[in-house]
Amino acid sequence: MSILNNTRELQRIDAAHHLHPFTNTRELNGRGARIITSAKGVYLNDADGNRILDGMSGLWCVNVGHGRKEIVSAVANQMEQLTFYNTFFNTTHPPVIELSRLLSEVTPPQFNYFHFTGSGSDSNDTIFRMARYYWELEGKPEKSIFISRRGAYHGSTVVAASFGGFNSMHKQGGLPIDGIYHAPSPDWWSNGGDLSPEEFGRKVAAQTLALIDGIGAHRIAAMIGEPIMGAGGVIIPPKTYWPIIAQGLKERDILFISDEVICGFGRTGQWFGCEFMGTEPDFMTMAKGITSGYVPMGAVAVSDRVAKVLIEKGDEFTHGYTYSGHPAACAASIATIGIMRSEKLVEHVREDVGPYLKEKWLTLADHPMVGEAVMEGLIGAFQFTSNKSARAGFPEAAKIGFTAREHSFQNGLVMRAVGDRMVIAPPLTLTRAEADDLVEKAARVTDLTYAYAKKQGLM
Ligand code: PMP
Repeated sequence: MSILNNTRELQRIDAAHHLHPFTNTRELNGRGARIITSAKGVYLNDADGNRILDGMSGLWCVNVGHGRKEIVSAVANQMEQLTFYNTFFNTTHPPVIELSRLLSEVTPPQFNYFHFTGSGSDSNDTIFRMARYYWELEGKPEKSIFISRRGAYHGSTVVAASFGGFNSMHKQGGLPIDGIYHAPSPDWWSNGGDLSPEEFGRKVAAQTLALIDGIGAHRIAAMIGEPIMGAGGVIIPPKTYWPIIAQGLKERDILFISDEVICGFGRTGQWFGCEFMGTEPDFMTMAKGITSGYVPMGAVAVSDRVAKVLIEKGDEFTHGYTYSGHPAACAASIATIGIMRSEKLVEHVREDVGPYLKEKWLTLADHPMVGEAVMEGLIGAFQFTSNKSARAGFPEAAKIGFTAREHSFQNGLVMRAVGDRMVIAPPLTLTRAEADDLVEKAARVTDLTYAYAKKQGLM
């Protein structure tokens, strides 16, 4: 048998030579990594012959489903035509031109300019520099501070990880960098106490504006936020939260950055999460769904307000990546947007499979160990609890989320665990039958995890 057909041998080589992202290598190597070998639609196949429903769209990215020939041939054709050319030094190429035009059509009306990057992290680093440069050109260089939030995820580069609100990330590498402040998270389940979600949303929004006023709005360049926090556990903020913040930022002349890396490209049942939340950002961070993950790509949507100043008052913006506007990535993105439009995937999520899955998903909260279940569009979560009415958690050492994630994989469903919160974001092509399969499997996982918790004397 060839080495590449032997799971254990592949795991041994992986352990010997591959340092995985966001992974404790020592623990992984003790276990052996799961090897995914192929995928079609919403299902993955692993090296042991298991078929697994990809409830996470890879890593929140394969929005149009796996193995779409249209994208594969668009990329192949582009690579035969023009494999690479840069977009520095007064050059451009047809796919980047076409993609820029398409993005201006699918994004909210204030966005007509796009700067291309290689990832979501790069995009946030780009925005950090671009927003500061904007205020410098406006004669207000003191507006240099950024507001983000605890529990937010914005990427792993130095600026993006500093924007992020995870202590575990800040601890490594001496972050955050200066000039970034974190407002409280709108996580009602963990922090809402006796307040209703609406009251809690108003309270956190007021705390955020108080933080801003304490620092001084004249010193603040921008605030960044995900419409729905993804990697932080699919925290869907109370309806009262974003409108108050968006209005407060406008009144204080602070730019707003909507990080759409997860929420963009149809995830919430709108093209972009800011449309779902009713905000009007000055920048949007984009990646993942922009190419449905087929080829790496990120982008920054720059509003007319900002672009006008950069173009009319600015000199050369001394920033860019070799792969800014890579032809193959542009081809993948054009094909992705083509599929989303022709298959009406945004409408499919908003009007069909989204509400269908939500109704079933929310019933998971009837389980004695599940405190809440939430979903908007095709992004959702449920929270394990040892006591529903007290919204009590489990000790970290009990590894509830981790155990549930293992049960999930073993029962043919990828769910991600964020602490003891299980999250899903399946491909937007999900059918009703696949949604049934997903919820059935998730329900089985809750039962198995409940049995484990009882056995451990945790319930
Ligand atoms: N922003 C958000 C909201 C994200 O979820 C992510 C990645 N999960 C990023 C930024 C970083 O994107 P990338 O991993 O492509 O750098």
